[in-house]
Amino acid sequence: APPILEVDDLAVHFPVTKGGFFQRQVGAIKAVDGVSFTLRKGETLGLVGESGCGKSTTGLAVLGLSPITRGRVRFEGHDVNHLSGAETLRFRRRAQMVYQDPYGSLNPRMTVEEIVSEPLRIHNHPGGAPVRRKRVAELLDLVGLLPAMAQRYPHEFSGGQRQRIGIARAIALEPDLIVCDESVSALDVSIQAQVVNLFMDLQKQLGLTYIFIAHDLAVVRHISNRVAVMYLGRIVEIADRDDLYDDPKHPYTQALLSAIPVADPVVEASRARVKLTGEVPSVMKPPSGCRFHPRCPHAMPVCKTQDPPLRPLGAGLRSVACHLHDPAIVKGHA
Ligand code: SF4
Ligand code: MG
Repeated sequence: APPILEVDDLAVHFPVTKGGFFQRQVGAIKAVDGVSFTLRKGETLGLVGESGCGKSTTGLAVLGLSPITRGRVRFEGHDVNHLSGAETLRFRRRAQMVYQDPYGSLNPRMTVEEIVSEPLRIHNHPGGAPVRRKRVAELLDLVGLLPAMAQRYPHEFSGGQRQRIGIARAIALEPDLIVCDESVSALDVSIQAQVVNLFMDLQKQLGLTYIFIAHDLAVVRHISNRVAVMYLGRIVEIADRDDLYDDPKHPYTQALLSAIPVADPVVEASRARVKLTGEVPSVMKPPSGCRFHPRCPHAMPVCKTQDPPLRPLGAGLRSVACHLHDPAIVKGHA
């Protein structure tokens, strides 16, 4: 089967302007700057990196919710930025977002039933109020809430329950693709695991495909089939989950992973930590050559001048953007 989603050389640049009435563009924030990946139906891609690396913007662009500067996003072969009116409505139903903050994204003056049934009303779901009420009860049951809770308001729920309400709303229209943007990041660790398990159960039951965005590599580990690591608007490494966690190849992935504490205190004490030095540079003026070179413990002279492309490593299931993994360059600089 063809991939459900194909992202090809995606770039999202926001102009930076100066001046009053006569604005002139003085630069661009290159939030996303050449991102490519594909997603198979039923798969979960974890998208990780420090805040400001372009994860959320990539998620929005995938849903057609951000203007794009370059490249293409195809959903089942169709360019999401060139859909007809009817196709756009259909795409809006089939691709949904679950946000980080269930507090901010749920209207405090609406009951759970009104919140969860809102997409059904917006998309003219057939049947009147009784049909919608029955569907809301089904949806609450699916996300592990009692249908009797439908008449309550968001403030009457805990953070984890509110996120379940947000998920019920996101699956109301039977989507195929859900972008989860830091969907569990604001929750307590014990609640995070429950909500991640809910996402995984729903995936099995409903055949969902996920892009699971988080700044924390530990959060995406359990749920992802593959993981892409972003740095300053680019993917620097993408690999099957176990390959990435067991044997990270990019120095940035290695640094992010070494920052995650290990439960076993003996292992923890003996572990080599890769410390990231320096601040994250500005996306307005990304460093020359490899964007990671000012912070990289392995930087070579070539890293300051040549931008390493994301290229397949080995069998091609993993790709890495680093000169250390380019045999020609490593030989030349040995
Ligand atoms: Fe480090 Fe050079 Fe690899 Fe960039 S290309 S990650 S600076 S070794
Ligand atoms: Mg974000």
